[in-house]
Amino acid sequence: MRYHAPATFDEAIAIAAGASGVTRYLAGGTDVLVQLRAGMVTPDDLIDLKKIPGTHDITRLPDGGWRIGIAVSGAELGAHAELVADWPGVVEGMELVGSTQVQGRATLTGNLCNGSPAADSVPGLVAAGATVTIQGPNGTRELPVEQVPVKPGKTALEPGEIITAITLPARGKSAGDAYLRFIPRTEMDIAVVGCAVSLVLDGDKVTAARISLGAVAPTVLLVQDCADAIIGTTLDDAALDKLAAAASAAAKPISDKRGPKEFRVDVAGVLARRAAKIAYERAKA
Ligand SMILES: Cc1cc2nc3c(=O)[nH]c(=O)nc-3n(C[C@H](O)[C@H](O)[C@H](O)COP(=O)(O)OP(=O)(O)OC[C@H]3O[C@@H](n4cnc5c(N)ncnc54)[C@H](O)[C@@H]3O)c2cc1C
Repeated sequence: MRYHAPATFDEAIAIAAGASGVTRYLAGGTDVLVQLRAGMVTPDDLIDLKKIPGTHDITRLPDGGWRIGIAVSGAELGAHAELVADWPGVVEGMELVGSTQVQGRATLTGNLCNGSPAADSVPGLVAAGATVTIQGPNGTRELPVEQVPVKPGKTALEPGEIITAITLPARGKSAGDAYLRFIPRTEMDIAVVGCAVSLVLDGDKVTAARISLGAVAPTVLLVQDCADAIIGTTLDDAALDKLAAAASAAAKPISDKRGPKEFRVDVAGVLARRAAKIAYERAKA
């Protein structure tokens, strides 16, 4: 295995583009190193991106959005008061990842690129309308987060392509988001279902919403029917009932040791309802 520590993304891309075997990028390493030690993946080239300048930065953009470097850890996100105030749901998804030790390393980008349908930070990013900047041998492109994972363990990135940053849009006024997951234990477990809600209010009325579900399909789902159930409402009981039904209808989970299909379908509705209420309260605050 060859370990590389490039000083620029251009250098990293050149190494990746020239590599012919198994390549992995090292952000926090909390997936890669576990997989390596378990013998699940033995990279021929391990490209450490953490030393590239700017990868640890959280930057406010001129339009009010945020640019999050690919090596920013969960702990660093949680410590950023302004970002937490804007996007509490995005941050709380990431803060559910692992333990205090894992939080010191694990990143949003690694969580996304590992390609787990149960990745805790991904529903929040999808609901937020986050995008990734991808740089590769053929230039730079932007992709919505929901288009990055294509199936479990696989992303839309082409060989040699690297995510260089995650961008969150400007939050604006009267807006809130929230992420909830269900796990059989109180922590350190994989989501049986996850749900994120991001919404915007005009007075008491919901004027825009994005709702996503994790762990109920091969990739995180962005569910338009859930948004349609609450847009134009004051999130009254009838709207919440419709939202829960839409979330359950969209959920297409598998059964496994953490929960049978029917349970996951039911929990998707319960979490959507609860997360929407939290996001609504945050938007009103
Ligand atoms: C004890 C423990 C508990 C955990 N609990 C949870 C949990 O509760 N919820 C959860 O969702 N996850 C959990 N995880 C998994 C893991 O911590 C997260 O997925 C984490 O966010 C991965 O981030 P990382 O920076 O460590 O990724 P890394 O291990 O560095 O990389 C992960 C993948 O992303 C790719 N990658 C990294 N950076 C880039 C880039 N810039 N461009 C393209 N590809 C890139 C790598 O090639 C690799 O395939 C846990 C892990 C451990 C060890």
